[in-house]
Amino acid sequence: MHREGLPYAMLAHQNDFTFIYGSFSRLDAKNKIIVVSAVEAHSGNEIIPERELSYSKLCIAVGSTSHYFNTPGAAENTISLNGPGDAEQFRREMLKQMTWAENQKERTPDVGVDVIIIGGGATGVELAAELREASSRYLDYGFRQLDPSKDIRITLLEGAPRILPPLPERVAATATKLLEERHIKVVPACRVERITRDQVIDTSGQVYPYQICVWAAGIKAPAFLAKLGLPTTPSGQLEVTNRLQVKGQADIYAIGDCAACVMADGSRVPPRAQAAHQQADYLYRSFIYEHRRGQSVRAAYIYRDYGSLVSLGMASSVGTLMGSLKGRSWFVRGGLARMLYVSLHLLHHGAVLGWARTCGLAIARVLVRRNTALVKLHY
Ligand SMILES: Cc1cc2nc3c(=O)[nH]c(=O)nc-3n(C[C@H](O)[C@H](O)[C@H](O)COP(=O)(O)OP(=O)(O)OC[C@H]3O[C@@H](n4cnc5c(N)ncnc54)[C@H](O)[C@@H]3O)c2cc1C
Repeated sequence: MHREGLPYAMLAHQNDFTFIYGSFSRLDAKNKIIVVSAVEAHSGNEIIPERELSYSKLCIAVGSTSHYFNTPGAAENTISLNGPGDAEQFRREMLKQMTWAENQKERTPDVGVDVIIIGGGATGVELAAELREASSRYLDYGFRQLDPSKDIRITLLEGAPRILPPLPERVAATATKLLEERHIKVVPACRVERITRDQVIDTSGQVYPYQICVWAAGIKAPAFLAKLGLPTTPSGQLEVTNRLQVKGQADIYAIGDCAACVMADGSRVPPRAQAAHQQADYLYRSFIYEHRRGQSVRAAYIYRDYGSLVSLGMASSVGTLMGSLKGRSWFVRGGLARMLYVSLHLLHHGAVLGWARTCGLAIARVLVRRNTALVKLHY
């Protein structure tokens, strides 16, 4: 995780923009001012006071957060994957539970770690596959009593009739098969009703006991957006025009997961990295155009779907690639899909770091992988 993260302060230093640490919390659109909240130390002491910043153009790109759909017990009992802190919490919990199971194994042969992942979208599917692979690797480092495929029991619950609902049926069927080959139990059409400290209960009364439960079932916009006095959808996203301008606001724009942008066919631009990337690119070009020509860009933003790839571990991926010819899509799987998945990751790094550094980092990563444990082993 720490090897992949690119700090905003470093990016700002290298790309000539200013990074200000703190949370955007309030807006005075009339006077073109935003308020950045005070920053507190761990002790609760305020170390940086609240600040006001003025703007001539404001672009809001605050992403999204978990949507629990008012499911009782979901927020309190599950781990979500909103950021590095959540991922670290999950990793530590997994390690502790495996240590517990390892110590119990001799006395109680049936003991294991039950992991429930709620939500069979790309995040849930990738997590299930990566977890199976990571848990096998943990066992190389001293968990001698546990059998990875039998004792780390991973169950993926999905409310829709199949996993990966927005992707083509063939992708979902292949992903299901690959997950089941990895001893991951896939339960479609399962509507979670409530979650207790150690059980997930669905609407049919079926009970799924767990030691770790991950919520990957949906996202919504951060709650503070609804209090800014800007137009929002029922799920809290900012309503934007097809020029990514917040409706009714001349100099306020929104992009990425927090923006609700309706396409020509009436559907919404999906909350994906490729959409956020395209929107940032569009807005950058339109600001430059406006600055040089003194008038707004004419062409509206159009979302282009280049396909989706879902990683199923180090050796395999599955997905579709969209061609420009009559909107045709190609189904890809296995090593080729994995190669494309890794190339996409490198493309992202190339876009923010430049190609020389991306190549250097890619070579360094191969060397590091050969010489260290592939999983982080400390608690
Ligand atoms: C586990 C996981 C896996 C994913 N995998 C894929 C994938 O494989 N492919 C894909 O296309 N998409 C994937 N996504 C979705 C993708 O990450 C998002 O669609 C994309 O990051 C959205 O970009 P964004 O800039 O809108 O928001 P983000 O990337 O979430 O960035 C928002 C930033 O705003 C900051 N922020 C939030 N509130 C405030 C505030 N009040 N003040 C200041 N800063 C604030 C946040 O800390 C964050 O750094 C994944 C998402 C998750 C959670």
